[in-house]
Amino acid sequence: MTAPALLIAAGAARIPVLGLGTWAMRGEECAKAVADALALGYRHIDTAAMYGNEREVGLGLRASGVKRDDVFLTTKVWSSDIGAGDLQRSAEASLSRLQLPIVDLLLIHWPNPSIALKESIAALCDAKRRGLTRQIGVSNFPVDLLRQAVAISDEPIAVNQCECNPRFDQSPLIEECQKHGVVFVSHRPLGKGSLARDPLLMRIGAADGKSAAQVALRWHIQKGLVAIPKAARRQHLEENFAIFDFELAEKEMEEISAMARSGR
Ligand code: NAP
Repeated sequence: MTAPALLIAAGAARIPVLGLGTWAMRGEECAKAVADALALGYRHIDTAAMYGNEREVGLGLRASGVKRDDVFLTTKVWSSDIGAGDLQRSAEASLSRLQLPIVDLLLIHWPNPSIALKESIAALCDAKRRGLTRQIGVSNFPVDLLRQAVAISDEPIAVNQCECNPRFDQSPLIEECQKHGVVFVSHRPLGKGSLARDPLLMRIGAADGKSAAQVALRWHIQKGLVAIPKAARRQHLEENFAIFDFELAEKEMEEISAMARSGR
């Protein structure tokens, strides 16, 4: 197995640049994928109250034997629950399902225009002060909303988790995140698996004996992003983690970035 995943700084937090996404995994499949991933060297797991799998994520974490403090664990509060009081209750319910006293990162899963942002962000800060999470952040926040969130938050916004991949250009939002020291976490980094069949990525990877999926993930990391691909299959888990032993040349990075502009 390759070297352990690198870390990226988000204020006081150190986030492993490659994590395991767990959306749509349930039951035994989820617990096993989490345990397998941790055994392979992953140290970052992404879940959410809405995924209905926090119990299994907790089981997988304990089954792996990896120390809790060595794993960066994110969960999220669903958009209907981001009002004052509801958000803190959602976080407490997540911890109870995970059977953990604290998570590393708590995110607002989606903005909700019918709840004042100020109220949601204050509740998120309160959750941190109460010791339910080490860091706070947001997800699916566009540029303007991110700017507002950063301006009104008493605590640093560590992360904005949004869809991004070589076919889904997020350059303006990434720039805005970087301006505020917010780490950009790419969800759906493999385009739900479709990028694994992309001819350009396959061609670029061939020279290094790497797959299209590995090239796509490496592209994220070289851009300074965190990627959280979901993989239920062990072969995919292994493949996605083996991206720390090669490097994409600048020209290759540009070619890959141009995929979105060319409508591919
Ligand atoms: P994704 O990670 O882009 O793609 C997952 C799909 O790719 C699965 O079908 C998986 O197959 C396949 N795959 C994984 N590795 C592969 C490889 N090496 N070769 C070929 N296929 C491969 O899509 P996603 O699950 O939608 O997004 C990732 C994570 O981001 C989610 O699980 C979730 O944690 C997070 N997310 C967050 C939000 C949000 O609103 N914040 C929204 C969407 C997703 P197998 O599972 O069969 O291995």
